[in-house]
Amino acid sequence: MKQIINFSAGPSILPQPVFKEASEAVLDLNGIGLSILEISHRSPQFMEIMDEANALVRELIGLTDDYEVLFLTGGASTQFFMTVMNLLPDGKKAAYVDTGSWSVKAIKEAKILGQVDVIASAKESNYTNIPKGYTIDPGYEFLHTTSNNTIFGTQFQEWPDSPIPMVCDMSSDIFSKPIEASRFGLIYAGAQKNLGPAGVTLVIVRKDMLGKINRELPTMLKYQTHIDGGSMYNTPPVFPIYVSMLTMRWLKENGGLETIQKVNERKAKLLYDVIDEIPFYLGHSVPEDRSRMNVTFNLADDARSKDFLSYCEEAGCSGLKGHKSVGGFRASIYNAMPESGVKTLAELMKSFALTHA
Ligand SMILES: *Cc1c(COP(=O)(O)O)cnc(C)c1O
Repeated sequence: MKQIINFSAGPSILPQPVFKEASEAVLDLNGIGLSILEISHRSPQFMEIMDEANALVRELIGLTDDYEVLFLTGGASTQFFMTVMNLLPDGKKAAYVDTGSWSVKAIKEAKILGQVDVIASAKESNYTNIPKGYTIDPGYEFLHTTSNNTIFGTQFQEWPDSPIPMVCDMSSDIFSKPIEASRFGLIYAGAQKNLGPAGVTLVIVRKDMLGKINRELPTMLKYQTHIDGGSMYNTPPVFPIYVSMLTMRWLKENGGLETIQKVNERKAKLLYDVIDEIPFYLGHSVPEDRSRMNVTFNLADDARSKDFLSYCEEAGCSGLKGHKSVGGFRASIYNAMPESGVKTLAELMKSFALTHA
């Protein structure tokens, strides 16, 4: 099989052993003579998978019983409004920090349903930094943040000292490092960046965040429905949940979140060192707010960009073209990206600069 190193931002790379096990389960799940794609979500086999997925989320993060773990559909984009519908009572306001395109989308949806103040924004700098030094009025119901800005390549390295619970979109860095759960009233993440395939969204909600609203909501859009139904009120996305469970198992077997954090920091350093040492490359983010998951950069001489991309593609590196709002390049180096893959790219960057500067 042709070996490609996949730097795509999402859907993205997953661990090789997970691909292998998932592909075997498509033909025969654990020797039961049925495919994972045809078993009932009410079958004991799937109940076991769901229980293990739930337990792995709890164990990896170290969640207390104050939190519920849900596997939902509709992507992180549905959580942009479901959070507000379920958590923000009439007459109360929510505070948002705008750190890029995904925050902007979250704010847009929130404004349809509730009162929202954007209390800090990095828009002025074209999202090269994470805003700091703003005050958070304790009168807000919650503070919404986007932990890692997949498109711009910035990431919260320190959380604001918030007097109110945070609601956080962790789609692109969930499980990339330890999570200080107690800061968060709700965490959500589309699986397709760092957790599993597209089609499932992880939601972690603290019980005391719920029950504050009086408005009537459609059944499917109430967190309580999915809590009561164990994420099986309706047919859950069986296969994406299964593959996410396998990925979390892999993560646990490889040392959990503290270990993966060290690996992720080493990987990111390999690329940022090249960016810092060779003026041929210009990083998008200010150094202190750089993402360990999505490394964004341009070439100082944009005329070389097309050649650089083909140079990388010829060497087997795919998915490097930057998002249209930033241009240039983006190397997404999620948990499943091996250090050797990042080393290959770092070497390509060095050799291209040497021969084309
Ligand atoms: C990809 C992404 C989303 C969108 O997720 P969907 O599951 O496609 O709705 C939201 N937020 C962030 C930070 C993302 O990276």
